[in-house]
Amino acid sequence: MVPDFNNPLTSPFWFAASMSKLVICTCKKCELDIWYPRHVCPKCGLKSTWRQLSGKAKLLSWTTCDHRINPIFNTSFTPAIVIPEDASSVQLVTQLIIEGDQYPRCDMSLRVDFAEINTVKNGNFLAPLFVPA
Ligand SMILES: [Zn+2]
Repeated sequence: MVPDFNNPLTSPFWFAASMSKLVICTCKKCELDIWYPRHVCPKCGLKSTWRQLSGKAKLLSWTTCDHRINPIFNTSFTPAIVIPEDASSVQLVTQLIIEGDQYPRCDMSLRVDFAEINTVKNGNFLAPLFVPA
């Protein structure tokens, strides 16, 4: 997902990321996390809000793309699906950064990190990624 700071539905996520904070759309009344974001709660219809997460997560799934599959990204990467510890009904699509002799494994403990993503066409932006905890 490339950030659109003019989209009122997703801009809170990207503004938070630009401050190294991970947030998620939620309904305070229902205590329901809403992902992907929606303007209103699908359960009660009230306006959704955002809440900050701890950044701790577990690895659900991943793959490593050694060849560029999206021309806007200029490096190989490991897209992943993670489950935040404090939003367990949510699956976040993200990137996994693993270096050295570590290998991904299911339920691996992760923590959020923020990195500047360099794109060929759309400039740079700060995005939440996940690394081993
Ligand atoms: Zn609700």
